[in-house]
Formats: sequence, C-alpha cells, structure tokens
Amino acid sequence: MIVDFDKSGGLVPVIIQDNRTLQVLMLGYMNEEAFEKTKQEGIVTFFSRSKNRLWTKGEESGNFLTVKSIDVDCDQDTILIKVIPGNTVCHTGSFSCFGEKDSKGFIYELEDKVSSRIDKKVENSYTYSLYQRGINKVAQKVGEEAVELVIEAKDNNDDLFKNEAADLLYHFLILLKSKGMSLEEIEETLLDRDK
Ligand code: AMP
Ligand code: ZN
Ligand code: ZN
Ligand code: ZN
Repeated sequence: MIVDFDKSGGLVPVIIQDNRTLQVLMLGYMNEEAFEKTKQEGIVTFFSRSKNRLWTKGEESGNFLTVKSIDVDCDQDTILIKVIPGNTVCHTGSFSCFGEKDSKGFIYELEDKVSSRIDKKVENSYTYSLYQRGINKVAQKVGEEAVELVIEAKDNNDDLFKNEAADLLYHFLILLKSKGMSLEEIEETLLDRDK
C-alpha cells in the first residue's frame, strides 16, 4: 500500500469509519511515522497538528480505535480506515465527531424500534402485546403473514403485495426478538455463506 506523503507536505488526511455501521466517526491526519505505527499496532495513531506530536487516539480516554481495514484513495493522498470504536470517539462526549450514533439504516432502525417497544413494555403497543403471547404465537403470525404474501404474489395487486411484505418483515423482527437474536447475527450467517 503506497501513500504519497510528499504531495501534501508530509500530512495526509485520514477518514475514520465505523467498520460495523459505516458511520463516519472522525477525521485526523497522519505522517508516515503515524501510519507505520498504526499498521504495526492495529490501533490508530495520528499526527496531532495541535499537539505537534504523534497522538494515539484514546491515549487519555481509553477509547482506542482498533483497525479493521486500511484503504488508500485513487491518487494515494487520502486514507480510509475502518475501525471498531471505543465507547465514544469525540472528545465532546458525543459518539462521533459528526453527531450521535447512526444505525445501519432503515431495517436496523426498525429492529431498534421493535426491540424498544418490548424492552420498555409499552402497554398499548401491538408489538409488545404480541410478544407477550409467547414465541409460538409470534411464529404462527409469521407463518400467516408469509402465506398472505404468497397469495398476493400470485395476484397483480402491487399495493397488497407490498403491504404483506411489510407485515412479514415486521413480524419476522418480532420473532427474532422473541428468540433473543439480533438481525446482525442473521447478517453474519449470510456473510459466512460467501466465504
Ligand atoms: P483521547 O485521545 O481520546 O485520549 O483524547 C485526548 C485528547 O485528544 C482530548 O482531550 C482532546 O483534546 C483530543 N481529542 C480526542 N478525541 C478527539 C477527536 N475526535 N477530535 C479531535 N480531538 C480529539
Ligand atoms: Zn485523493
Ligand atoms: Zn470531535
Ligand atoms: Zn398481512
């Protein structure tokens, strides 16, 4: 991997991205020494322009950035590092320097919503009341929604099909929660198949 440190006067910008969610966490700079140290240790060390020295992110806070992958851009003057972050990344206490924690997108947000209705025992919530009826009932609902989707697949009514697809997805997430599983585990299972 070649980085052109000379082009930008010895310091190259480094984008730090969450390996799991792909959220952009912070931007720092590295000189060649910081880059070599980062590769060697597997923990991100920048060159701090304000401290004017090598700065291992987390050296005071303990919130180190553990390296998962390193990429260099098309013209070798910007580095992208995917990391496993600590509890927080920004020194203001917010999760990322660009705001609070992002989820991986719509379906993970939906999973969080389903999960929180259940964890908070929201009394008038359909989600929580179905969950309370037990795993067999939830599984039965998933079966029903799947059958409804199959039936709509044979028709030519796209609106009904989309609604049944939404029902199935929603009940599938309640079933996962009832099994004590997370969407991420299912993602990992699928990714393992590609190996
Ligand atoms: P840390 O490296 O997390 O132990 O933090 C040490 C010091 O580095 C803090 O007191 C801040 O001055 C600075 N710092 C930490 N995190 C950031 C960040 N994400 N962006 C800019 N400065 C930071
Ligand atoms: Zn570039
Ligand atoms: Zn910050
Ligand atoms: Zn339905």
